[in-house]
Amino acid sequence: MTQILGIDVLRTQLAGRVIDKFDFDYDTARAVWNGGIDRHPAVIARCTGPSDVAAAIAFAREGDAQISVRGGAHGSWGAAQPEGGLVIDLRDLRGVSVDPGSRRAWCSGGATIGDLDGATTRHGLAVTGGKISHTGLGGLALGGGLGWLVHQTGLTADNLLSAELVTADGRTLGVSADEHPDLFWALRGGGGNFGVVTGFEFRLHEIGRLVYLGLFFWTPEHGSEALRIGREVAASLPRNAGLVMAAGLAAPDAPFVPVAYRGTPGYGLMIAGFGSALEHHRLIAPVRQALPPLFEFVTPLPYVELQKALDDTAPWGSHAYDESLYLQELSEDAISVLSENMPRKSSLMSFITILSLGGAFADVGEQETAFGGSRLTRFVVNVTAIAPDAELLATDRAWARSMWQALVPHASGSGGYVNAMADSDADRVRAAYGPTKYQRLAGIKARYDPDNVFRMNANIKPAPLPRCLTGRIEPE
Ligand SMILES: Cc1cc2nc3c(=O)[nH]c(=O)nc-3n(C[C@H](O)[C@H](O)[C@H](O)COP(=O)(O)OP(=O)(O)OC[C@H]3O[C@@H](n4cnc5c(N)ncnc54)[C@H](O)[C@@H]3O)c2cc1C
Repeated sequence: MTQILGIDVLRTQLAGRVIDKFDFDYDTARAVWNGGIDRHPAVIARCTGPSDVAAAIAFAREGDAQISVRGGAHGSWGAAQPEGGLVIDLRDLRGVSVDPGSRRAWCSGGATIGDLDGATTRHGLAVTGGKISHTGLGGLALGGGLGWLVHQTGLTADNLLSAELVTADGRTLGVSADEHPDLFWALRGGGGNFGVVTGFEFRLHEIGRLVYLGLFFWTPEHGSEALRIGREVAASLPRNAGLVMAAGLAAPDAPFVPVAYRGTPGYGLMIAGFGSALEHHRLIAPVRQALPPLFEFVTPLPYVELQKALDDTAPWGSHAYDESLYLQELSEDAISVLSENMPRKSSLMSFITILSLGGAFADVGEQETAFGGSRLTRFVVNVTAIAPDAELLATDRAWARSMWQALVPHASGSGGYVNAMADSDADRVRAAYGPTKYQRLAGIKARYDPDNVFRMNANIKPAPLPRCLTGRIEPE
């Protein structure tokens, strides 16, 4: 492990705890969601606010140490855990406050989706979050943020109103459409490249006391038909609904699954409704008629419960590897690739999700935010190899890669959702953003982080914009 000298000095500078390998809880503190990642940071700085963050950055830079930023630690390749280096750990910064009058939430940089939902739904309000409640809001929002509400309220990032950010040179900046608008653009999709976000302000939207879930499950031999049904419903999905198809998913060990079918692999279709019970009923009725499922679970539930419904499919400590791509349409060829390759996985836990996009997501202009993906995209596909141990993951990592490669010819290029790409090599990151956005992001990176201090992410290499193009960046 790299030695960083003067850790005791850092301890005197921070209000939060500074942890190293001699501390009793070092192993717990360095752990990330992906149990397959086992790096040993030299220092974990549990920051309590912007001044701790600035001190930790200065300390690491002085010692030439690699910096990582830990939000919820769900980055699938372990972006929050450097070998050697210093972790700027935001887990003690989880407060969320809500102003119901102006429908705004102020969230600390280390909050989880569960923290956000818990605080907002008390006021009958919500904003798009992820589908697993223990995911970090920080990484999720900075890379985009896809969830059940994406048709109704767009990406999490689309609802960002302002942020508080500590830069590589230790300044604390307010960032919004009026303050540092170039950064404001970059933070909405450009990931953790530009600094450490200690606070996010989001626009909130009304959510009913109860929402509606329809979950349908079919055995693998009906996989292609199940995907076609999902495609059909997605084609006319109203704004006040969300749709996810899950291929290869093992029916969870949950009370709503008949005992005989728990652990059975198959194809799931989940349709969430945010309007009335009748609207949801009309949406799901054709599903049953098209192909009677092995079992179904249709229920009203509070939004926070919907947000936790899939938590058991992705427990902490799982070994995981992700691939991602976008589909303009779920073509017959893509369906064939999916159903032919699905039986080749080895781990019962591995699965593919296909989330329907459209509605408010598609209202936002292509260049309005830095999100790495086209607003015309209809589906985001995540291929998730997930296993209880390293050996099984190795087999399914190969499965995930070959599934991804087989799907690429049917996709909108090789770029995928940056938050679901375990292989964030330079070419993949460029492909995700496309040349125009990447160049603009690289220019903003050169301005705020010219030494690429924040590089444990889907990394944008700093590159000052040519003089003739600098007009594209709004003045500070
Ligand atoms: C089980 C699981 C479920 C998921 N479900 C969804 C989903 O439904 N929808 C979706 O959109 N994505 C989902 N994701 C992907 C998720 O959005 C990314 O993994 C995201 O990076 C997680 O953020 P984090 O803060 O938990 O992770 P971390 O590993 O802590 O951070 C990830 C990256 O974000 C940066 N970062 C985090 N917080 C900050 C901050 N405050 N300031 C600056 N940089 C920061 C880090 O430096 C790092 O580069 C899921 C991931 C997992 C593992």
